[in-house]
Amino acid sequence: MKKPFVTLEQAKKIIETYPTPFHIYDEKGIRENARKVNAAFSWNKGFREYFAVKATPTPAILQILKEEGCGADCSSYTELLLADAVGQKGEDIMFSSNVTPAEDFIKAAELGAIINFDDITHIPFFEKLAKIPETVSCRYNPGGVFQVSNSIMDNPGDAKYGMTKEQMKEAFKLLKEKGAKHFGIHAFLASNTKSNDYYPMLAKIIFELAVELKNELDIHIAFINLSGGVGVPYEPDEFECDIMAIGEGVRRVYEEVLTPAGMGDVAIFTEMGRFMLAPYGALIATAIHEKHTYKEYIGLDACAANLMRPAMYGSYHHITVLGKENAPCDHKYDVTGGLCENNDKFAIDRMLPKIDMGDILYIHDTGAHGHAMGYNYNGKLRSAELLLKEDGSVEMIRRAETPADYFATLDFTGLLK
Ligand SMILES: *Cc1c(COP(=O)(O)O)cnc(C)c1O
Repeated sequence: MKKPFVTLEQAKKIIETYPTPFHIYDEKGIRENARKVNAAFSWNKGFREYFAVKATPTPAILQILKEEGCGADCSSYTELLLADAVGQKGEDIMFSSNVTPAEDFIKAAELGAIINFDDITHIPFFEKLAKIPETVSCRYNPGGVFQVSNSIMDNPGDAKYGMTKEQMKEAFKLLKEKGAKHFGIHAFLASNTKSNDYYPMLAKIIFELAVELKNELDIHIAFINLSGGVGVPYEPDEFECDIMAIGEGVRRVYEEVLTPAGMGDVAIFTEMGRFMLAPYGALIATAIHEKHTYKEYIGLDACAANLMRPAMYGSYHHITVLGKENAPCDHKYDVTGGLCENNDKFAIDRMLPKIDMGDILYIHDTGAHGHAMGYNYNGKLRSAELLLKEDGSVEMIRRAETPADYFATLDFTGLLK
């Protein structure tokens, strides 16, 4: 069963200071998990997790992960600014972008970030803006479908990211001519995978390519970046990835492919977002309306502007009615927000305990791609973000938006005569 990291009593206390809705993060959970990730790959001397900033672009969170030894994976100008703001320096920053504007490349170069080229044409594009660094990376896309034990995980052949094998060879040759000395290979083939075999299988594909590229082009492969994609169990009985088993699986493939090729110095990098943060965040909202028409509806003070995944992907997020953890789930509800969009539903036909007005609902696993994906449709404002610290105290790490924020990009001066 899924257990909230705050109780009803704690939530009530927090709400006295910070009204719902808000996202709250569990510092203890974040730190313990980050330590486990580092332990799982401790067999690899150069291992580093570069946290995918897009998942939770909040400085206090980035700071915690930095303290746990993580770098930052950025893909836009503002994400680079955030990484810089929390003191990530030079090669602590991985720049894994695509369709990259010139100013983003310039900023990444200025910060000394590791550039991960999404396409071969980005090399001449980049060269007009900055010098090719000594350490560079390229993103690989093997095409086709990606399968783990007979089930299709994802469809790289349909994905806009990365280069073909031939292009990887051309790109590395070109980069070598331009002075690059240390090379990285990156690939992201499947998202939110629920299998301990994803990273090891991906590793095998990249490791074999690495050996081929090293031998053919006589280059030093410095790191392999397995990127993100390790999943979390959003549903109560879903498979839960075991990061220790995943690390061990990657080690075995490493010993099988890289070590015999004399490549035992290759560092393993990851760029996880979801696995690092999703379970350690929750959206807390209050039931403010109930409606009995052709279905039973519960309306919250939160909406898809605070958490878009259910509306956008039909994603499941578990809901706990705080204080009713042990009550029977004998009521079927659609739990909705107030957008003028019928897809603004956190849950559809969900069996829950009887919900009364004023009940506090805990929406699980919103720590990654939650607040970050928020938007302002219908003039809805994004919520605050709070941090539940290890000592039990609560700190606001991002205030809620106000109407002034929503209007900040407008100039009313011509209208206000
Ligand atoms: C989104 C993204 C990640 C993180 O993915 P998760 O599924 O959150 O682990 C890592 N790297 C890149 C390049 C991404 O676009």
